[in-house]
Amino acid sequence: MKFGGTSVQDTAHIKRAADKVAAEVQRGNEVAVVVSAMSGETNKLIALCKEISPNPNPQEIDAVVASGEQVTAGLLALALQERDIDARSWLGWQAGVKTSESHSKARIEDIDAAPMRERLSLKQVAVLAGFQGVTKNGRITTLGRGGSDTTAVALAAALHADRCDIYTDVDGIYTTDPRIVPGAQKIAKISYEEMLELASLGAKVLQVRSVEMGYKHNMALQVLSSFNDAIGSDFPGTQVVREDDIMEQQLVTGIAHTEDEAKVTLFNVPDIPGVAAKVFGPIAAANINVDMIVQNVSGDGNATDMTFTVPESELARAVDVLKQEDDLKDADIRTEKDVAKVSVVGIGMRSHAGVAQQMFKALADKDINIKAIATSEIKISVLIARDSSEPAVRALHDAYGLHKQ
Ligand code: ADP
Ligand code: ASP
Ligand code: MG
Repeated sequence: MKFGGTSVQDTAHIKRAADKVAAEVQRGNEVAVVVSAMSGETNKLIALCKEISPNPNPQEIDAVVASGEQVTAGLLALALQERDIDARSWLGWQAGVKTSESHSKARIEDIDAAPMRERLSLKQVAVLAGFQGVTKNGRITTLGRGGSDTTAVALAAALHADRCDIYTDVDGIYTTDPRIVPGAQKIAKISYEEMLELASLGAKVLQVRSVEMGYKHNMALQVLSSFNDAIGSDFPGTQVVREDDIMEQQLVTGIAHTEDEAKVTLFNVPDIPGVAAKVFGPIAAANINVDMIVQNVSGDGNATDMTFTVPESELARAVDVLKQEDDLKDADIRTEKDVAKVSVVGIGMRSHAGVAQQMFKALADKDINIKAIATSEIKISVLIARDSSEPAVRALHDAYGLHKQ
């Protein structure tokens, strides 16, 4: 059972979470719980680091921000003990959550679950602090924003759990963010492939890594609400399942958007073999993710222009890297920040034409200009002006008939 930030936002919510854990224990289940920090806490802790240092050391940021989850793990264990349930808190390092050394976005490499498993078999509930781990050198790491989801799935896999239930502030995965489109519909079952796309395209309900890990380990994953009375054993939420387990494959299952996007255009790059490699090689070496790429046909056969997107948070670094390339010294580099990416996802697209056309038409009808397009087998993404992103999500949700009946 994993409880996110809003689900442990204060002691009243922590007590409600404890009630849900108690209900599962009463059903005869062995339970391990993963908790996030109280909502807002991680942001507060990051801000404290920045008050002290404009460019804080990543190892110390992790030492500071990991403390948020330590607090809620201890508090939830206390709440369980108040209900006469044997329980204890575990920090990442105590539970053997070993990670890589990339601070603030570390990857879980291994969890030594034997000690926890032994306590679980004695009917003790384990409450693990999410989002944190430890390197082989004993330094504390964190897993990137939303990382407690990944802790939960990784722990479930390491314990060979029957199920991993992600409790949050919505009662499942919806056709799009229900805060943007109130008429969005709850999805009963979604495939790992679709959820992987939605998560990586901006639906923050599950961290991408957690979906990847669930897919790899074939973990029965469910997203459900911590605010109503239902518990996971009754399957009230959205289940993430193998594609074969979905009877009716939707053309479009969901819509996601992200505003952490920026566009880079290089005008006047030589139109010769090897140029794309010269542009994108150094960017990849700097560990910057490039997403949409558009290369124009050159008018005179000598020079062309090339457009691509990077996360806005990486834009400055991407431009620095390009400016250092000798072969690009004549290129005119221009950037645009006020952009957003809106994507439609669905496994039914594999076997149906026309999904893209429907998207372009719906956007055209709203006078929304498309700046770049990217596709995969099961998604279409467009880059548009940032202030059109929410209207675009609404228009597409309408166009594909995803509203509640
Ligand atoms: P937690 O703190 O529990 O981890 P998050 O805030 O990280 O919760 O994720 C839950 C939020 O994800 C919801 O409140 C909702 O606004 C947002 N969200 C975005 N896309 C979707 C979607 N397709 N379905 C459900 N929720 C979504
Ligand atoms: N507390 C961390 C965050 O705010 C991790 C999480 O909530 O999953 O990103
Ligand atoms: Mg989250």
